[in-house]
Amino acid sequence: MTNNNNKYKKLRQLQAQYVAQLPSTLDALNNAWLRTMNENGTEALDLLRQLAHNLTGSAGTFGFPAISVEARNLEENLRKADVPQKLTDSTKKTIASLLQHINSLAKQEPSNQQYSPPLEEGADSTSSQFDRLIYVIEDDLLLAKEIASQLGYFNYEVQTFSSTEPALVAIQQRMPSAMIIDVRLKEGELAGPNFAKFFNEFSSARIPSIFISAKDNWQARLAAVQANGSAYLTKPLDFNDLFEHLEELTTRQIPEPLKVLIVDDMKVLAEHYATVLRASGMRVETISNIDGLLEKLSDFKPELILMDIYMPQCSGLEVAKVIRQKDELIGVPIIFLSTESDPSQRLFAMELGGDDFLQKPVTNEHLLASVRSRALRFRKLRSYMLNDGLTGLFNHVSIKTLLEAEVSRAQRQTKPLSFAMIDIDHFKVVNDTYGHPAGDRVLKNVARMLKKRLRKSDLIGRYGGEEFAIILPETDIKTAEKILNGVRENFSRITQQNADDQFSCTLSAGITQLIPGDNVDRVISAADTALYEAKEGGRNEVCIK
Ligand code: GH3
Ligand code: MG
Ligand code: MG
Repeated sequence: MTNNNNKYKKLRQLQAQYVAQLPSTLDALNNAWLRTMNENGTEALDLLRQLAHNLTGSAGTFGFPAISVEARNLEENLRKADVPQKLTDSTKKTIASLLQHINSLAKQEPSNQQYSPPLEEGADSTSSQFDRLIYVIEDDLLLAKEIASQLGYFNYEVQTFSSTEPALVAIQQRMPSAMIIDVRLKEGELAGPNFAKFFNEFSSARIPSIFISAKDNWQARLAAVQANGSAYLTKPLDFNDLFEHLEELTTRQIPEPLKVLIVDDMKVLAEHYATVLRASGMRVETISNIDGLLEKLSDFKPELILMDIYMPQCSGLEVAKVIRQKDELIGVPIIFLSTESDPSQRLFAMELGGDDFLQKPVTNEHLLASVRSRALRFRKLRSYMLNDGLTGLFNHVSIKTLLEAEVSRAQRQTKPLSFAMIDIDHFKVVNDTYGHPAGDRVLKNVARMLKKRLRKSDLIGRYGGEEFAIILPETDIKTAEKILNGVRENFSRITQQNADDQFSCTLSAGITQLIPGDNVDRVISAADTALYEAKEGGRNEVCIK
């Protein structure tokens, strides 16, 4: 958690920075008031309003909530006249006393922000390889072996134990990310759950466990629940079920940090918000000069924009209008930040496609909650648009768009790139023999295996019904061939399941690599031709073109 301490320290530093400049801000404020009283034009009054406005928006954030309140009062009183001459004596008196009060409040110590942000899930995690180690405690050695080899095809690392004692020793040496535990072992009828219960009671670590059993009785199920079991599967094991549960337990993939862009002309305030959001694991960039905004948007691709409404160059509402004109930015949530409490402003902001309107000073918790929920929702909606519903892989449109981008990037960087098309062999027969739902499970298995076996940098899509497309950046064709042959071989060994039937499937693949002067159409059609050759050659084969 040192990371968090650092963020906390950063907040304190920003606060100190703010406190340090406060006297000169107040000097400017007092001077502007003196000039307002003594000059005829509106220049000083405008400046005074601007300064009061900034104070309203910032003081509360840095530990002076009372100043924010009084500054807002000040703003309201200053709005009572458009020229200084029209200010009534009583208003002038009120303004003078508000200024005095603000000056004395500024001499007090700022309240400390006891802020410890909730960390985004996984933001502090270190390793993603970690989620692959599985311990299997099963005294039926044949079954244990079968589980190990099936899981192996999905790239899990498996260790098997025929009793609890060696498993306990192994746990102390290396924590698995999940366990599969037989309910009945040599040690007793409920030895599996008892072992897990024992472990849970004496260790602070939690290892998710799946219980497997030939029995389906109340007592065993209850014991499994009491031992905090995540699932209870009966034998004969349905491997699809097992994979599905295991995947849920182990692919607590470190979520990509949410990306937030902050647009605020007050640098210290933008930095404060950024620090609060970063402390909870988000990736934040700030921009205080609007000129570079469009470039920033296309480079950074934020999942949320936090926008100040009042900026000297132009209003945040106008900026939002520009953003909404750009197709590729459609749907990116915009949260407006402003001291404006006027409901019509708020309505106007919403009409422009603002998603929320936060009033400065906003508490850290409120800011975080608002940003997170909206950015997450955007991410989810975007994934519905980009991903295939059955397999979660990129859909046809996405993978083609990605291929275009990757091809031009590879050409720009003169790096190799390979592209593969995969098609399941005789898939129609699978559907005809075992039914469409069984076919769907096979498709999911292909997706699952590709995700587990390919590298993070590889892009996987469901190209059509039972066709998959894979982009392998920075990969020459020889390497791609090796990888795809590994995939092909593995897949053929996976036990596919349908109720009581077990069967296996094969797949064929065609690969091509980028050639000089290439284009996307050529790449796709070459992979397709290679795939056709693999089919012609008898299937369960990888061909290159
Ligand atoms: P080949 O080895 O030549 O590829 O033969 P095939 O039977 O796999 O190829 P064919 O193109 O004749 O049949 C593909 C089948 O895939 C037909 C279609 O019903 C099935 N299919 C396509 N999409 C889905 C899906 O989402 N779910 C299921 N279960 N089946 C699908
Ligand atoms: Mg096929
Ligand atoms: Mg086909």
